[in-house]
Amino acid sequence: VDPGALVLPGAPPAARPPALDGSGETLAAIRADLGDCTRCKLCAGRKNIVFGTGNPTAPLLFVGEGPGAEEDVQGEPFVGAAGQLLNRMIAAMGFARQDVYIANVVKCRPPGNRNPEPDEIAVCSPFLLRQVGSVRPKVIVTLGKFAAQTLLATEAPVGTLRGRLHPFVVAGESISLMPTYHPAYLLRTPSMKKVVWEDLQVVMAELAKLGVQAPSPPGP
Ligand code: SF4
Repeated sequence: VDPGALVLPGAPPAARPPALDGSGETLAAIRADLGDCTRCKLCAGRKNIVFGTGNPTAPLLFVGEGPGAEEDVQGEPFVGAAGQLLNRMIAAMGFARQDVYIANVVKCRPPGNRNPEPDEIAVCSPFLLRQVGSVRPKVIVTLGKFAAQTLLATEAPVGTLRGRLHPFVVAGESISLMPTYHPAYLLRTPSMKKVVWEDLQVVMAELAKLGVQAPSPPGP
């Protein structure tokens, strides 16, 4: 039933409720709806909500896990050591950081960098889905297990999900999603960079197939 059609005769016109998938919403409207969020217990220890950053119509969208200490202070995702590596990965694909959009599954730092818990992911991830629906990227790259498992609704490990594109439906559109390892893991296990580069090459081929040209010639 179209909720916009449920208007009683004589009632004043009501504002149409926002779509739950982000379609037609601006990122600013989603951020305003998030407000000074206290919807889950992660609000207690945060310094800043880390909403997301980048091009609001980016063809390529990265999703990480949650803010770390540096991100919590600066209010921006992927600004620490893992962020520097992500920037290099993005550059190797021929893009600049401002060309893509970057967000996380949870927007407040889990204490002591612990993993986000299921109740926190359940409450926060609808905002991520609305961001994805607003940006409508051509391809999504998930970084680490929480992003992949949340968006693909699976408990499978990254090792079995990575290497191929998965369909992810948002706002009635199927978007190609590539799960790969988190840059923080790559900092601890540099030998896996080669595997991630293979995943990113699949993403670049998909973008080219969809008519998206990287601004700079890509290369490792
Ligand atoms: S993690 Fe998300 S749901 Fe929880 S307080 Fe922060 S913004 Fe709100």
